[in-house]
Amino acid sequence: MRDKEKEQEIFNNVSTVYGPVKSWRFGMSLGIDPIYLTSTCSFNCFYCQLGQIQEITDLIKVYVPTEKVLEDFKKIKDSGKAIDVITYSGSGEPTLAANIGEMISGIRKISPNIPQYILTNATELFRPEVRERLMELDCITVKLDAADEETFQRINRPAPGVTLERVITGIKALKKEYKGKLEIQSMFMPLNKKNLDDYAQILKEIRPDMVQLNTPKRPYPSEWHRENRGNHHKIFDYKVTDLKTLTEGEAMDLEALLKEKTGLSFLSIYR
Ligand code: SF4
Repeated sequence: MRDKEKEQEIFNNVSTVYGPVKSWRFGMSLGIDPIYLTSTCSFNCFYCQLGQIQEITDLIKVYVPTEKVLEDFKKIKDSGKAIDVITYSGSGEPTLAANIGEMISGIRKISPNIPQYILTNATELFRPEVRERLMELDCITVKLDAADEETFQRINRPAPGVTLERVITGIKALKKEYKGKLEIQSMFMPLNKKNLDDYAQILKEIRPDMVQLNTPKRPYPSEWHRENRGNHHKIFDYKVTDLKTLTEGEAMDLEALLKEKTGLSFLSIYR
């Protein structure tokens, strides 16, 4: 598709802003989707709520114009809906958007008092310019699902060249420079419940402000629908696969054990 046509499709299509949806931690969270047109990510996690990622890449570029995001944001804001936080997430990895920094400062100008958060898989944080773009955020939540390369490859199924070492290097560099709140979010399932000593050691080296323990409660969809960005429920008729989760008891035991090994603060999806 030619660039002009692609741009037109973006402007004719629905919003890059979705929700607000009720988040289990933050109240009404308004999602911002800096990727938008297709699902695009440097991971292809086997539990992803978007289903099979369409573009598995770590290419950083402008995926959607900043003006489109700001326009969409203003529309929702002017509609008077309650918004407690703004979260950059959406149709893939938000730090692949070269203009994410512009979106953050643009929205800050429009709504200076609404906290802005991001959910990132941390694959691009080893790049100084990417970390720089995120400095204005109030909270950065990074994904860390594995403590060894083999488990990382099996769960996150990354783009060529993306390694666990690159992810951890990026998170540590961010921790040194960033003054806001840094959280780690880990998806636990039977596959990665082993090797907890190494996982605890990585956490101790990073020293995040909080660790969120999740388990894949949403089924894996067979198709991508943009509406899956913020929805917890299936709204179209497509096949889904239920995933193996931790039980509430297993999650509680895991939390207690990790607390003891690291001395950090934890939050579990079951609490
Ligand atoms: S990092 Fe997020 S968007 Fe990317 S594949 Fe994993 S769960 Fe999906």
